[in-house]
Amino acid sequence: MAGGWAKDGAVNEQIEASISDELARLRAQKRPAGESRTHCTECEEPIPEPRRSAIPGVTLCIDCQNERDAAFKPRGGINRRGSKDSQLK
Ligand SMILES: [Zn+2]
Repeated sequence: MAGGWAKDGAVNEQIEASISDELARLRAQKRPAGESRTHCTECEEPIPEPRRSAIPGVTLCIDCQNERDAAFKPRGGINRRGSKDSQLK
């Protein structure tokens, strides 16, 4: 039974080692470092090869990227085309 403690310690060391291993892996995943994905992270559609080579670290298909781009653009606010439209109406 005396050996039980030593065994626990060894297991703990192993767990700590695998945790730091896991952390390193997670950090690597967060920063893709120019690695493109084969499938979109949003809809899992395959990303075409030309798009993958054109955009290093691409994670979205064209449709999802467009949606995301549109979501980032401020609507109303500074939009000259919008105000021109309202003048014409
Ligand atoms: Zn997509």
